[in-house]
Amino acid sequence: MRAPEKRGEGIHPYKIVEIQFEETMRITGITYSEKKDLLFPFREITVEVPVRMDNGDVEVFVGYRVQHNGARGPMKGGVRFHPEVDLYEVRGLAALMSLKTGLMDIPFGGAKGGVTVDPAKLSLPELERLTRKYTQRIGLILGPFRDIPAPDVNTNAQVMAWIFDEYSKAHGFTPAVVTGKPVPLGGAPGREEATGRGVAFITSLAAKDFGIELKGARIAIQGFGNVGSNTAKFLYGMGAKIVAISDVHLALFNPGGLNIPEIYEYYYKNKTLKGYDAAEVLDREDLFKVETDILIPAALGGAISKEKNADFIKTRMIIEAANSPITPTAEKTLLEKKIVIIPDILANAGGVIGSYFEWVQNLQEFRWDRDEFFQKMERIMEKGYKAVIDLAKKENIDLRKSAYAIAIERLAEAERLRGSY
Ligand code: NAD
Repeated sequence: MRAPEKRGEGIHPYKIVEIQFEETMRITGITYSEKKDLLFPFREITVEVPVRMDNGDVEVFVGYRVQHNGARGPMKGGVRFHPEVDLYEVRGLAALMSLKTGLMDIPFGGAKGGVTVDPAKLSLPELERLTRKYTQRIGLILGPFRDIPAPDVNTNAQVMAWIFDEYSKAHGFTPAVVTGKPVPLGGAPGREEATGRGVAFITSLAAKDFGIELKGARIAIQGFGNVGSNTAKFLYGMGAKIVAISDVHLALFNPGGLNIPEIYEYYYKNKTLKGYDAAEVLDREDLFKVETDILIPAALGGAISKEKNADFIKTRMIIEAANSPITPTAEKTLLEKKIVIIPDILANAGGVIGSYFEWVQNLQEFRWDRDEFFQKMERIMEKGYKAVIDLAKKENIDLRKSAYAIAIERLAEAERLRGSY
């Protein structure tokens, strides 16, 4: 089934991944049939998710789970609850997960899941019933050695706890079936901040390599959820000046630097940036007009496009904390402007590495402390980062193509070794 080219006014998020994947395939040594095999997902399921609402009515939602590639290990990827979720978006995000685990050389494949729903409109009991019903419906294809969900947009440790509980009812106590759980239920200390911490770590390596002094660097971050808020927290801790942040409602701006610890506390108490009054309030899209040294999209796919903002963005480096935040045409414009782009499968891989550690600890029934967690995470990320930089220099290609090429070669190699018949 081919994905639609467009969603709303912009390119469909799946097309972004497909174009990037195909462009890189052209420069790798893999064969035509390997290409077809790698791009197409291993398995996709669409499920009906009927939920008894608090008023007694039953509302039917639609859920998806796409398993992209499992040649290198059990398939791994988050679950997203969002009104724009569709099969193709989930397919694209699943492919990115295979690339991410391949690039980081951790023993997983790629998958992704989602439900088309606006969770802000559900009560907590409705959200729990939705999560449990979705888990029941996709449960047959999950398992600690088959497919392991994790948090993504609008899902969190509590949602992962319900997935764990629902799966365990049918299969016995199985914490390793899902990651990003609360620590008392087998979650790993460090996992919750792992993606943001990893983004900040990669930002520090890239800033050094590309001549940006991180201390005092002006940074704007789009999205202040799990990834954006933790990225802001760690970069602030490293001495960067976070001049603008945004959420779905608005952006906050202070050219002298925002008070991130205070805003962090405010956001987690109020679940929004709305009402915070110690900074200038901008339209959320105006964040992209702020001149910066480093820009970090940490919300949804397609945030930076030619139509919306690529032409006027003034920055030196973009760190893709979100998945697929830049459309391919926007990327051309940004690269022409000599903006360094650190691709998503490298920048935000801390999340899946953290999930890998949680899974390992669950299987071993053993817990590491946070310091050990972050030390091991940074070691893996640094190795991945260096490989991407080295190949880009050697082949004179951009960093995305370099990252994708390393990952695609690893996936193709695993497929070859497992044999075709
Ligand atoms: P989240 O639900 O915790 O937060 C999303 C944030 O984006 C919220 O603050 C929301 O208000 C904001 N937002 C939504 N639309 C916006 C818009 N148009 N403009 C500005 N802000 C907007 O989600 P998250 O887990 O932080 O995920 C963010 C991105 O990072 C996604 O692309 C996700 O796929 C990616 N990612 C997440 C993880 C993880 O571990 N959670 C790992 C890797 C990648």
